[in-house]
Amino acid sequence: MQIADVQDDIDRVLLTKEQIEKKITEAAAVIDRDYKDKNVLLLAVLKGAVNTLVALSSHLHLNAQMDFMSLSSYGSGSESSGKVTIRQDMSVDVRGRHVLIVEDIVDSGLTLSWLMDLLHQRGAASVEAFALLNKPARNKVHVDVKYPGYEIPDEFVVGFGLDYDEKYRNLDSIAALKPKVYEGDQS
Ligand code: 5GP
Repeated sequence: MQIADVQDDIDRVLLTKEQIEKKITEAAAVIDRDYKDKNVLLLAVLKGAVNTLVALSSHLHLNAQMDFMSLSSYGSGSESSGKVTIRQDMSVDVRGRHVLIVEDIVDSGLTLSWLMDLLHQRGAASVEAFALLNKPARNKVHVDVKYPGYEIPDEFVVGFGLDYDEKYRNLDSIAALKPKVYEGDQS
């Protein structure tokens, strides 16, 4: 899906398909180099990071294994509480594995920080992260993201895996929605 398909709902485009592609290609080159002699396990957090995982993995030259996890962090409205629960766990035993978490966006940072701690507790040999987007103005905890993507302002964005009410995930760019889209939504 492209911007033209949802033009009426879009306030502005923050990142085009080309800009996303560029950043992911650059990160893939560094990851290829860093994990050259390691058997990397890419772990994506469902559902938002799926597009990023597919794009990143397709640019890697090394052979990467993939796994998925579904997490939820309960809080009021759009605020993450940091109390993360596992909806669906990964299927691989991470003991001794080099895990690279693939994230769509770091907002408070609480989810990623929690997940990194969990993987360390489970005995991973190393735990690093690639996050396509980060909102520094909203970070509540410092998370060491070794492979950062773009920094964006404090705005709710959709596209490239990110949804609003399960919509816009298949938009090929990243955009902010018009306020009218949220009107009437009290959550
Ligand atoms: P954190 O624990 O860092 O506060 O939350 C990260 C999660 O919040 C992301 O994986 C994503 O699901 C959600 N999130 C944070 N900001 C946005 C945003 O601007 N748009 C969308 N669609 N989801 C967001």
